[in-house]
Amino acid sequence: NLEIHRQEPCLFKQSYLLADHLGKGAFAQVRVAINRVTGERFAAKIIDRNRITQLEKRKKMDENFQIETSILSRVRHPAIVQVHGVFREHDYLYLVLDLASDGELFDEIVRREFLSEDDARRVLLQLLLAIRHLNRLGIVHRDIKLENILLEDKKSLRIKLADFGLAKIVGEHMFMKTVCGTPMYVAPEVLTVRQQGMYDNLVDVWSLGVVLYICLCGFPPFSDELSPPPMRDQIIGGMYSFPSPYWDDISPDAIDLVCRMLQVAPKDRITVDDALAHPWLKARCNGHSWTI
Ligand code: ADP
Ligand code: MG
Repeated sequence: NLEIHRQEPCLFKQSYLLADHLGKGAFAQVRVAINRVTGERFAAKIIDRNRITQLEKRKKMDENFQIETSILSRVRHPAIVQVHGVFREHDYLYLVLDLASDGELFDEIVRREFLSEDDARRVLLQLLLAIRHLNRLGIVHRDIKLENILLEDKKSLRIKLADFGLAKIVGEHMFMKTVCGTPMYVAPEVLTVRQQGMYDNLVDVWSLGVVLYICLCGFPPFSDELSPPPMRDQIIGGMYSFPSPYWDDISPDAIDLVCRMLQVAPKDRITVDDALAHPWLKARCNGHSWTI
């Protein structure tokens, strides 16, 4: 039942105090929310239902909120934001989440320019384990990008995957047909789905490949800013390179893993399990042990 049930007005505000602004998306704003009883800090994703006046669109938004909520409440993983509460009021929808207090991985990479191989490995390892967990639950995220990878702690690069607004549950023999996601990170089979038919959970591996590429050098593999052809054609053609001098000192193993993740044909693309067993990820992370 996708109806948004009316709860007592202001139930959310009776329980939480809203503080700093953390971020903004298409429909949502995200703010720090402090539990009035315990003083504990969370992130509240707040959707203003009145911003959308068109009934059809509002229905769609309510539905997306419902899907995001139901998917997130099934998931429990150290590298994925957890839901602590859901409030549905007449004008606002609230999702109370783990607070990732160090912001987006995007901003941290802008600050550092790029990540060392050890740091990039740390980030990728956590993301692969998170995706493996999602895959086992039949969930595809579909919108993995630097803005949706949040930092719990920027020093140790402990991350939390967020924004399940486009996520989907797929059955074993069900495939997805919808075109969605952010162009820069989107897998080729998503762009050509109208012509080719179906795609499945390897779309998240592609997006992770784009994330890994950016982590290692600080700029994206596909872009409309550098040179033609249009980004869409670059993606479909798998047209990217490892330009000098940025990639000169990066290990062949790291480059090999990027190439395997950015395989245009899904059947040629490395799986999450095989990526976890790849030599680059087997290299030790500076004495840290990562048993998640
Ligand atoms: P949208 O679906 O509108 O993109 P997101 O869930 O991605 O919304 O949230 C938008 C932004 O808010 C994120 O990119 C991030 O900067 C911030 N944000 C979201 N969730 C959290 C959180 N749990 N902790 C800290 N910041 C968050
Ligand atoms: Mg987002």
